[in-house]
Amino acid sequence: MPTPPSLRFDNAFVTSLPGDPETGRHVRAVEGALWSRVAPEPVAAPRMLAWSADMAARLGLDPGWMRTEAAAEVLAGNRLLEGMAPFASNYGGHQFGHWAGQLGDGRAIGLGEVLDPGGRRWELQLKGAGPTPYSRSADGRAVLRSSLREFLCSEAMHHLGVPTTRALSLVGTGEQVVRDMFYDGHPAPEPGAVVCRVAPSFIRFGHFELPASRGDVDLLRTLVDFCIARDFPHLQGTGESLLGDWFGEVCERTAVMVAHWMRVGFVHGVMNTDNMSILGLTIDYGPYGWIDDFDPDWTPNTTDRQHRRYRFGQQPQVAYWNLSRLAGALSPVFDGHEALQAGLRRFVDAYGAADRGNTAAKLGLSACRDEDLDLMQALRDLLKAGEVDMTLFFRHLADIDPDAPSLDGFDDAFYDASRRASVEAALGEWLRTYAARVAGDPLPAEHRKALMDAANPQYVLRNYLAQEAIDLAHGGDMSRTEALLAVLGHPYDLQPGREAFARRRPDWARDRAGCSMLSCSS
Ligand code: AMP
Ligand code: MG
Repeated sequence: MPTPPSLRFDNAFVTSLPGDPETGRHVRAVEGALWSRVAPEPVAAPRMLAWSADMAARLGLDPGWMRTEAAAEVLAGNRLLEGMAPFASNYGGHQFGHWAGQLGDGRAIGLGEVLDPGGRRWELQLKGAGPTPYSRSADGRAVLRSSLREFLCSEAMHHLGVPTTRALSLVGTGEQVVRDMFYDGHPAPEPGAVVCRVAPSFIRFGHFELPASRGDVDLLRTLVDFCIARDFPHLQGTGESLLGDWFGEVCERTAVMVAHWMRVGFVHGVMNTDNMSILGLTIDYGPYGWIDDFDPDWTPNTTDRQHRRYRFGQQPQVAYWNLSRLAGALSPVFDGHEALQAGLRRFVDAYGAADRGNTAAKLGLSACRDEDLDLMQALRDLLKAGEVDMTLFFRHLADIDPDAPSLDGFDDAFYDASRRASVEAALGEWLRTYAARVAGDPLPAEHRKALMDAANPQYVLRNYLAQEAIDLAHGGDMSRTEALLAVLGHPYDLQPGREAFARRRPDWARDRAGCSMLSCSS
């Protein structure tokens, strides 16, 4: 018999922070409180579609139990375990550059905070578990396609070494959800799902912005103190110096996160401040995408098609802008501006250092000199002009012969013969310059390849791969999702027999919805 979970809950968020005195799901403005009590709305027929063995093990959940109907019921929100205290949290945010006021968890319901067998804290949160006081005009639900994308991508990012929220499970609800996928006046029913996401904290920049926007400095200060104590317990000191260290660390973590995105070719797609984690975790997987042919101007998000605010190459600048909004919100609890400005400078320094680290590792160099940044920029320009696959190119770069550099091994990284022809000479020249740089570097050849292969993944969740898994899942076949979860668990290792998962985007996927274009409809 599988062991029913005896999870140790310590629900600090709801026991330490002020909650909404009103109960019930009705939509409302919630002032003076950081959360509202609300239970998940049960669904018709919960069925476990996929789950992360890695995440389950971390929480101390028995794999046997994860396969039971009881697990599907708990992770759909139909049944609560002892110690769970469900709630929706209250936050605001800047969306596409504009202050949007109160947003809050409109379809996410926190279940509580588990202390795992090692004493680490993990908040459990169901996404798509029904309406809350923050649902505004929406239904509180999520469709299978977006839930599957979140489930797979958050686990893939974790294994790539990118700071991220995790996913424990993907449960089908047995209910239909109506969505107008292209916002073109053609709403249609789609299967619904619930993801159980997991993170040490789900506090967002927007949690601080909302009380600040209302002039509620007491609530703001209460949240800051709570966040430092619970989520940054390693920080010592008091007063302004503690606050400064905390904000500086938030800036540094954000820089490190975005630098990882740039290294692996991830485009978040909706970097609104309500989608920025205070712990510097990638959060809220919506219309995200992966770079296939290298293009810093690309965004998968059709809602952002016009201004491309959240395009790949702009992510570091947007992160800085978002941190500036956070600094503005926090300023009432700081004595002056100095500590906040120092924190923002920490972003610049940390991003610069991480960018140099990425450059050295992606190119296989013992250290990054100033000229190497230019070498990398020259390469980026060529990859864009030649429409070259980012992932395949960097992976192949580790295998060139520095004594006889050539583009021979790179055939599968090119999408278009004429674009290839237009850069072939210049790229060949770049390879020769690179080979000379490598030859003069003290790093031994075998170390160079190991360094590069640990920074340049072989397998990423290419947009078309996720879409194929979704198409199969819609027909009830979860085998592709499971296969992807397994392959993406070891993204830097060559996996014989799994070559198909490393291929460049096929032609059919170039302009297909879900593969190159995604809306926020989810
Ligand atoms: P997002 O663009 O997914 O970050 O969501 C922005 C805001 O809209 C958040 O407050 C979400 O909780 C809310 N939201 C998005 N989709 C839904 C939905 N289907 N039902 C209720 N609220 C939603
Ligand atoms: Mg969001």
